Amino acid sequence: MKTKPQCLIRLAEFTIEEIFLWMKNIPGKNLPKGRAWLYGESVKYNSKRLRTFLHKGIYCTYCGKKSTHFALEKHEFSLPPNGLVWHLNLYIRGLDGSETLMTADHLVPKSKNGGNGQSNLVPACTVCNLYKGSRMPIGKWLPRYLKEEERKRLCHKIQFSDYVKL
Ligand SMILES: [Zn+2]
Repeated sequence: MKTKPQCLIRLAEFTIEEIFLWMKNIPGKNLPKGRAWLYGESVKYNSKRLRTFLHKGIYCTYCGKKSTHFALEKHEFSLPPNGLVWHLNLYIRGLDGSETLMTADHLVPKSKNGGNGQSNLVPACTVCNLYKGSRMPIGKWLPRYLKEEERKRLCHKIQFSDYVKL
């Protein structure tokens, strides 16, 4: 399974601490569209994806793997305006050096009326995201970090408590 997008050009790598510090200390709003300078490039700092990592952590919600680093990358062949923009990707580096991209997953899938807002986005590795697909967060897809009370609230909220063994 492909867990790292192909055709990406990498400009630089950063520690997670470096990027979170950068996101929290953007100096003024001198660049349009939520961008700020990083490594001499105009980089988006307030995307839902990045904010999901900043606020909800760097562990995959489902398998618990921990992210290890950020990379400043862009797609090699895609066209402007988005294609020429450097963006930050979060990765898990395995012991063998392989990298797995982290994503912001819709906890309750969009196809099941899950919202597009921050409250419904959770960090998830590409592998888990792909396998979970459009499944509801029940059974093995219940977020590992949820405490029992939160699980019950979540179950109540999305009305599938009858199907969940707590
Ligand atoms: Zn995972």
